[in-house]
Amino acid sequence: MSKLIKNGTIVTALEEFKGDVLIEGEKIVAVGEKLDAKADEVIDAKGMYVLPGGVDQHVHFSFEFNGSKVRGFETTNAAAVGGTTTVIEFVNQEQGKGLIDSIDDYRKESVEGVSMVDYSFHGIITDTTTGVFDEIEKLPEAGYPTVKLFMAYKGMFFHADDDAIAKAMMKARDVGVTIMVHAENAELIDVLQKQCVEEGNTGPYYHAVSRPPIVETEATERAINIAKFADAPLYVVHVSTQKAVDAIKRAQAEGLSIYGETCTHYLLLDKSDLAKENFEGAKYVCSPALREQEDRDYLWKSIEKGWLNSVSSDHCGFDWENQKHMGKDDFRNIPNGAPGMENRFGLMWTYGVEGGKISKQQFVDLVSTTPAKNNGLGDRKGHIGVGYDADIVLYDPSKKVTISNETSLQGVDYNSYEGFEQKGKVEKVLLRGNIIVDDGKFVGEKGDGEFIKGKPYGLCYEGYNKK
Ligand SMILES: [Zn+2]
Repeated sequence: MSKLIKNGTIVTALEEFKGDVLIEGEKIVAVGEKLDAKADEVIDAKGMYVLPGGVDQHVHFSFEFNGSKVRGFETTNAAAVGGTTTVIEFVNQEQGKGLIDSIDDYRKESVEGVSMVDYSFHGIITDTTTGVFDEIEKLPEAGYPTVKLFMAYKGMFFHADDDAIAKAMMKARDVGVTIMVHAENAELIDVLQKQCVEEGNTGPYYHAVSRPPIVETEATERAINIAKFADAPLYVVHVSTQKAVDAIKRAQAEGLSIYGETCTHYLLLDKSDLAKENFEGAKYVCSPALREQEDRDYLWKSIEKGWLNSVSSDHCGFDWENQKHMGKDDFRNIPNGAPGMENRFGLMWTYGVEGGKISKQQFVDLVSTTPAKNNGLGDRKGHIGVGYDADIVLYDPSKKVTISNETSLQGVDYNSYEGFEQKGKVEKVLLRGNIIVDDGKFVGEKGDGEFIKGKPYGLCYEGYNKK
């Protein structure tokens, strides 16, 4: 079965041009101007941008907070209609179980036959008693070449100390596994959280008060120092504040292989959202906390300059009514995280490209090409070129959308971007050559998504030379 996408404007991270894309089965077989090719199906993309499907390298479909669980892979049709064709899920190592077994089992039980977009995984080290560091060398073969450790969350089973980070890095660097950290100082947060509660300040806003920028800056700088100590590359997830970006910039200037991402909500929302009345602020409780306008401005600059290399959603689907309300009397019990996979692509186009902050090439790079490369998917995903998977979004820039939870597929009872205006609309989405979104509606099937094995030596290892 072949398809020819004609007359669109093809945009990649490198260039844009009017042209056609020929697809044979699941793959792109030709790209060029006025392709002289016959196909079983011709798709007219006149007036539309032809973009690589989004790669969201930071999502949570299995996260649990105080025993309460997020919506799972059954909601990934939301990613599809939002222009994202690959998601990379963080899976906690189960207590007493190996990292690979934890991911394998989760994959079989909850993802295969369910996901509506393609998927890959990051492991999260939570139990250092299982020989988990020795397991790192087996991760590339299993197709899980990235591992995260949580520096935040004192007292929680998934918190990682410096020694765990160092040990993981020293194993990872020899086999091309990328170590990621959630960089916030757990001890300092604990001091401020207790202080806030003792003073009777228990509302959602104090989530941000108890996690000021310095806790992120300190942990980011420390993680960079541990990477230096271990002579290893490092990827810092969800960077939200100016000084943390500066730490990464300095490390890059020193020639270190240190990279980071930011997320849609740090670019478009801020601390004032946490102050919304009637517990509405709880909708915006995520970690790191939302920052100030100056940080937002600096983060836009950071993605434009390449100091941060990707924009993720950090999608985390907790309901406001039943789940966020667990913290009604104490912000420490509000599940951390907010939904966002459906809107990342359109919002970055609107406020990034249409807002004059980034070019179309940078947009593609930040939401698709580089996230694929970071995670060892760069030979199949994130680009419109011969040999790549035919994951393609047709985006109509002339349409307008008002974001509303009424029309959302995320399966959560609120949307962080309620009422935001979006310029342009995802019209059609192809997943490996198969049309899964048509006229903006999901037309795919449950289980259409496939596991994509990540390869080791992702982008963090380009230019990395072990001493
Ligand atoms: Zn996250």
